[in-house]
Parts: sequence; C-alpha cells; structure tokens
Amino acid sequence: MPEVKHKSCQINAPVSLVTGAGGFLGSHLVDRLLLEGHRVIGLDNLCTGSLENLDNALSFKNNFNYIQTDIVESFKIPDLKYDFVWHLASPASPVDYRRLSIETMLANSIGTKNMLDIALKHSAKFLLASTSEAYGDPQVHPQPETYWGNVNSLGERACYDESKRFAEALTCEYCRRYCLDTRIIRIFNTYGPRMQINDGRVVPNFICQALRGESLTVYGDGAQTRSFVYVADEVEGLLRAMLSGNTRGEVINIGNPEEYTILEFAKIIARLCGIELNVVYKPLPPDDPAKRCPDINKARVLLGWEPAVSLELGLAATIDSFAHELIM
Ligand code: UDP
Repeated sequence: MPEVKHKSCQINAPVSLVTGAGGFLGSHLVDRLLLEGHRVIGLDNLCTGSLENLDNALSFKNNFNYIQTDIVESFKIPDLKYDFVWHLASPASPVDYRRLSIETMLANSIGTKNMLDIALKHSAKFLLASTSEAYGDPQVHPQPETYWGNVNSLGERACYDESKRFAEALTCEYCRRYCLDTRIIRIFNTYGPRMQINDGRVVPNFICQALRGESLTVYGDGAQTRSFVYVADEVEGLLRAMLSGNTRGEVINIGNPEEYTILEFAKIIARLCGIELNVVYKPLPPDDPAKRCPDINKARVLLGWEPAVSLELGLAATIDSFAHELIM
C-alpha cells in the first residue's frame, strides 16, 4: 500500500464510519479513505485487530478518530453527519471465529443491525463486508453471486457462515423496507501486510514457517483450492462498490479468479522465501471447502474492477512485512 500523505480535511469532506478499523482489511481501508480526503471515524474492540495497524491513521489528528468500543453493546459516536457506513467488524480467520464463535455471531447480527440503524438515521450509504464463506463448500464452480451456496448450518464454521448470511439477509431487508442505499461485498481470501502472524490462516502460517525454515503444514492432501487477492486490490473493489452510482441493493464478489491448490501455493511460498519445500500433512479441518474461486464478471461490468497486483508481487510485499515483524 502507498504511504498515506497528510491531506487536511475540507470542511465538506465526506464522513466515513468504519467498523473493524483496527483489523487487517479495515485498517487498509481507513488508510485509503484518508488518502481520498475522507474524515474517518474508526470503531474496533480489538478482539482480533490491533492499534499498531492504525499507526499511520492515528497521525491524521484532525481527520481520524479511533473509538475502542464493541458495536454489539450501546456505544457513542461523534456527533457528525455520516455519509458512508462501512461494516467490516468480525473475526475472519477460521481459528479466530472458532475461538470467538458467539462473539462473531453477535457482531454479524446485533452489530450489523446497529450499523444499519446508524446508516438509516443519517441516510448514509452502507456497505456490508460479507464473505465467500456464504457459499460454504460450493457445488457450483467458480461461484457467481446468483449461487445460493452449500452451508452446513450446524457445523463448526456455521458461526461465521450463517451469521454473515444473516447479515446479508438483514441488509437486504433494510434496502427493501427502508430503501436504504446498501451493497454487499463477498470478500474472497485476501492477504497482505498486517495480517496477524498467528491467526492460523494459510498465508501467515506458510510464510512464517518458510521464514523460520520449518516444514509447511498442509491440511488434508493439499488438493483443495483457494484464490488469493492482494489487500490493495480488495480495498479498491470496496471503494468502487461504495462510490459507484450503480451498486444500490447489489451483492458483488471481490476476489481473484486465479485459483491454486494449497500444495501449489506451498510451492510458491517456498520458492519466494528461498527454501526447499518440506511438507508435513495434518488433518483437514471440518467442513473445509474443497474449492473456492470467484466469478468476478459482475465486478468487471458494474465496477470496471479486476485484480491488478500479481500473486508474486503481492506475496513478495507480504513476505517482506512478515520478515520484518519476525525480526522485531
Ligand atoms: N491450510 C493449510 N495449512 C495451514 C493453514 C490452512 O493447508 O497451515 C488450508 C486450509 O485447510 C484451507 C486453506 O488452507 O483449505 C485456506 O485456509 P485459511 O484458513 O487461510 O482460509 P479459509 O479459506 O479456509 O477461510
């Protein structure tokens, strides 16, 4: 991501409220909004985010306010006229949302309702950060937005999948009943600097293992697939989805259609980290989707968006940032 340069806020600068501002994706979105000249209010309870992620944003003294709060509880926000509500708050890695299962469900249900109500009160545009997990273990491949998904509503991933699906349904109802200007973005596996080193996801696990010279832990036989999008591309997609005039009531996939098996991905990480690949196989977690790849035709047509950063370049930047963090 480019370093954000200070640009003082205009009197009539757009005002953005961002939940999950201290998270991996939320903090990159905040930086980008500040770069675009928004006044930004960021909320987080730091259950998975961190204040270090906001180091850059916090230097924007007049344009950025951080409020540590839980959007599930009653909370206060500065008395401003909000133009945009970006709802990103939720644990997002399988390890985190298993550990924080009920908290995840509440953030996506009560938290979503609270943010929709704020958007309604201010006639603000609303963006829900949803997930490719809404498709569960998909039987249609690649996944278009019209696919209803294949989710185990009783399984270990249900706390995330089903609560995001509930958040989507609630968002649709606010759009239908109150004509709220909403859009839902289904985010596919996103990676980049500021991912938590120990959140258990494949990108931080493989990179840290490779940098430490350890074997890479492949779950199952490694034939399952994922498609990885760099965080700057994901943020660009979110921005276009919010600011475009043609996204009201829409649901849009934002992800990278380049698909890799996890074993192929392990080979790429080993090569980029300059080590010989050694793999240790571990059991596949329950309900781990066998395939995942977005159909992004809708994003191309509606937003003129597609990923711009190659996997090699994005991973090189991510490996650099992790190497730096491991040395510190
Ligand atoms: N995975 C793996 N080794 C790891 C971590 C994850 O093989 O150390 C696999 C995991 O089983 C899944 C894929 O990598 O098939 C992506 O997992 P991740 O937790 O990053 O995200 P998911 O797409 O499952 O939400």
